[in-house]
Amino acid sequence: MTIAEERKVQQEKKGRRIVLFPSPLQGHITPMLQLATLLLSKGFSITIVHTRFNSPNPSNYPEFNFEPISDGLPNQKASDVEFMALFSGLNVSFEAPFRDMLDLMLLKNTEEPIVCIVEDGLMQFVQRVADHLKLPRMILETNSVASLVAYTSIPLLRQKGYIPSQDPMSKTPITELPPLRIKDIPVIKGDNQESLYELVVQVTKQRNTSSGFIWNSFDYLERTELSKIQQCCQLPNFLIGPLNKYSLESSTSLIAQDHSCMIWLEKQAPKSVIYVSFGSLASMKNTELMEIAWGLANSMHPFLWVIRPGSVHGSGWVELPNGFEEKTWERGLVVKWAPQQEVLAHPSVGGFWTHNGWNSTLESLCEGVPMLCSPLFGDQKVNARFVSHVWRVGVQLENGFDRGEIEGGIKILMDEKEGEEMRERIKIVKENAEICLRKGGSSHESMNRLEDHIMSL
Ligand code: UDP
Repeated sequence: MTIAEERKVQQEKKGRRIVLFPSPLQGHITPMLQLATLLLSKGFSITIVHTRFNSPNPSNYPEFNFEPISDGLPNQKASDVEFMALFSGLNVSFEAPFRDMLDLMLLKNTEEPIVCIVEDGLMQFVQRVADHLKLPRMILETNSVASLVAYTSIPLLRQKGYIPSQDPMSKTPITELPPLRIKDIPVIKGDNQESLYELVVQVTKQRNTSSGFIWNSFDYLERTELSKIQQCCQLPNFLIGPLNKYSLESSTSLIAQDHSCMIWLEKQAPKSVIYVSFGSLASMKNTELMEIAWGLANSMHPFLWVIRPGSVHGSGWVELPNGFEEKTWERGLVVKWAPQQEVLAHPSVGGFWTHNGWNSTLESLCEGVPMLCSPLFGDQKVNARFVSHVWRVGVQLENGFDRGEIEGGIKILMDEKEGEEMRERIKIVKENAEICLRKGGSSHESMNRLEDHIMSL
């Protein structure tokens, strides 16, 4: 396309508004804002609907229109809220305010027709509102394709008797879903597994009535998994990721990032540091935190460790074990929240000990940093299994947090030939992620198709 033609296409999109509504969780808000940034660059106008609870910062995005809706939710941080309670709360209290808000927008903004609503598939009322107002709805999948395959297989896994399991930590392979085992089935914390299964069935049904799926993933990585989705659902799919390449993470972060660690990283030897973070929601027992501390101390490697306030059940801040600081002060740094993408891109970082949230996993793949995997719940388990057994760019700790296993895992990753081979493999993934985004690359082409699709809705 010539520059003049490109400009004409952009002009056509001017005044076409896309309404994006992420669930109020860091891992969902981040890719939604990244997608919005990309759509803005293509000429669309952007409205972000958000809750006051876990609100993004509008001043970071002066070109977007932000529409807060009152949620009546308690003033809590996401990590304090039980997942099922959060989503049932949202589904009860949000439908009416969301519909009223869109009604008003449609009345006021006749010159800027809303062409599409983009949501992340977890808030069931969005479909009802979209249908009521006759607006098309697309889903931004914030998880990996692999984990979606696992979620949508939950009815089959029940039918075959894999779940509920007497031993959820069983390493019995699931022959229908290689290389997953029973322990990798994406369960979510909370006692009420029956309502979780029910939610999964509902969400799957609703996904399949949308106008298509936008994936924060790329063809090189998840082509095979996508073909499994396509076998059971004919809707259009757009793999346009990795989205983290489109916007600065400092603007999407809900927590202030401590940049002082970048100065510390400057003083460390190349590829010597293990970066440790378990994301925005994970919360663990104090005894587990102690094991992590001693595993790091005993590994003798430099480390940068994110301990988010609220990381330990029931406590605002945590006490590190006696003797830990004396043993590690020369080679360890603890911060409350880091500029993670910048950290992963730093030449001193040689490994990432992660919970394998999808954003963290993608960020690590994009920076070519091999992983030590400690998945805690949900899709993280599937991601960790794919990291260690399909893409083979990480090693999984199989027994929770045990100082001996941690020390051994860090050694494999940072010192041994196995770790070196992972580093070589992840370098190739990184290169392919870059190729996908370039003109002519698969994600770039997919984005062009997505634009046409939105214009045709
Ligand atoms: N993150 C960050 N600083 C930190 C830890 C995490 O900015 O110290 C960001 C990270 O870059 C990622 C997001 O928080 O984009 C976490 O999302 P993910 O899907 O990995 O996990 P979740 O928080 O949803 O469990």
